[in-house]
Order: sequence, then C-alpha cells, then structure tokens
Amino acid sequence: MFRYERPQKGRYRQFHQINCEALGSNAPELDAEVILLLMEILKRVQLGASRLLVNSLGCPDCQQKFKAGLGLFLINKEGLCEDCQRRRTTNPLRVLDCKSAHCKEILKDAPVLRDYLDPDCLAHFNRVLELLSRFGVTYEEAPRLVRGLDYYTRTAFEVVAVGLGAQDAVAGGGRYNGLAKELGGPDLPAIGFAIGEDRLMEVLPENLGQGDGKKVFLAALGANARDKAFSLLQTLRQAGVAGEMDFGDRSLKAQMSLADRLGADYTVIIGDRELETGKAALRRMATGDQQEVALSLLPMVLAGL
Ligand SMILES: [Zn+2]
Ligand SMILES: [Zn+2]
Repeated sequence: MFRYERPQKGRYRQFHQINCEALGSNAPELDAEVILLLMEILKRVQLGASRLLVNSLGCPDCQQKFKAGLGLFLINKEGLCEDCQRRRTTNPLRVLDCKSAHCKEILKDAPVLRDYLDPDCLAHFNRVLELLSRFGVTYEEAPRLVRGLDYYTRTAFEVVAVGLGAQDAVAGGGRYNGLAKELGGPDLPAIGFAIGEDRLMEVLPENLGQGDGKKVFLAALGANARDKAFSLLQTLRQAGVAGEMDFGDRSLKAQMSLADRLGADYTVIIGDRELETGKAALRRMATGDQQEVALSLLPMVLAGL
C-alpha cells in the first residue's frame, strides 16, 4: 500500500500489511475470533512485550450522541492545538487521536464512548470482552482508542509493541459495518485487522525461525538414496523439523562439510546399503556419535530430539 501522508520512522511511503477481513456477520463471536486469530499470529511469530487495547465505538447512533457530548466538552477548552480547534467542530472524534501532549492532558477528563453506548452496543462489547477473557487473551480497555479512520463501528482494537516509540502500533483493526455500503456495495457487516509488516519486522527477534529446534542434514549417496532423502526431507518439514540436503552428486566427505557449514545438529547418512536394510546412520555432529535408526522411524525420532 502507499501512504498519502508524510513518511516518518516506521511509517514508510510504501508499506506492507498482513490483512484479515471477515464479512457478513454482526455477531460478537466473530469480533472475538478475529482478535484471537491476530493474537495467535503474533504469538507464533514471537512478538515480545505488547499490549492489546480494545474499545467500542458504538453504532452510528451512539457515535452521534458521543460526538455531541465530546463537542460540548471541548467547546470552551483553551489551548487545544490548531488542528484540534478545527476538529472539535468538524469531527471531534479525531481530537481523541491527537498526539499533542497538551491536547492529551485536556482530554483526560473528556467523556468516554463506553458511557454513550446503547444497550445493544454495550451488550456486543461486553460479549467480545467476555470471550477474549475466556480464551486467555489479556486486554486493556482503552476508552479513547478511536483508530485513525472514520468508518469504524463498535469494536476497535490495536496491538502496541513495547519499545516502538510513538509509532508503537504493530496491528490494528475493528468493525466497519457501514463501509461496504458507503462505497456502493451491499450493506454487509464486516470486521478485520491489518498487521504493519514493516513495524512488525522491527520488533521481531532477529533469529526468528532459526533458533528453534534441531537442524538436520540428509547426506545421500547415489540417485536412489537422493530420491529417498528428498521424500524424507518433505516428511521432516511437515513434522516441523528444519532439514536440508544437497542435490549434487558429491562425496560423503563434501556433504559432511556442507552439513557443518550449515550448522546441522544431526546428519542422516543414506546410501544403497541403508536403502536395503531400511536403516540409516544418524550422526550427532557435535560429538560424532552415530546410531542406527529405521528410516520409517526417522521423522518421529528427529522431531523428538
Ligand atoms: Zn449503538
Ligand atoms: Zn491536538
């Protein structure tokens, strides 16, 4: 995607997002499901310290009442930044988004959306929060979270990573029930999120995907053994074991030194004799210890090492 506004650190002109959109249901279960999916993705990529912020922006009716209440609160406030002085009449919701320290200070006593939710919107919000709790997701209610765009309705959320500074949101999303219709499409409820890939990369561990588990090298001698090793390699990867092999016709010595260079923890040696007996030699690289393992059991044995 391309950004219209001025680029800054962590906010590039051209950027990448990992998106999820779920269309067609207004059920709070879907909100929870989408947030659970996001948290699971962030967990699997080993995002470190982070906070999940959740708010409800209510339906357009609730928002209308809240805007009126907020506008009234802001009307005689002194010292708002230039932008906010304009926004308080045009779109007071955006004042909540202001990064100015002084504006933030003024907003401390501002009304919050939660107090303006009608019974339906409140029930929806409470159900989402209840489901998040039930599935062990830690969240913080963020009464002033409005997201940067005007089309959100009801649930809005952000994940902020500790240590990213002012641009600390790595992911965010929410419901946008009115958007499809506004753009000329059908009246479809919808919810989604976007993970900012560039910002996520800044906070992920550098050795992600390299430090886990054992690395295995398959040393194969001869075409038949290479064919068998290739199948084995796919099975290993499906079992979550990181594996490599060489596709050339190199000597065992050359393959062993390649295994060393790749930092393999174990090497499996397969030749014609091993194909016949159905057993291969499994060598532990650090010590040179070697044991025989049945080829059929290798994926299980290696996955358990
Ligand atoms: Zn409402
Ligand atoms: Zn401001």
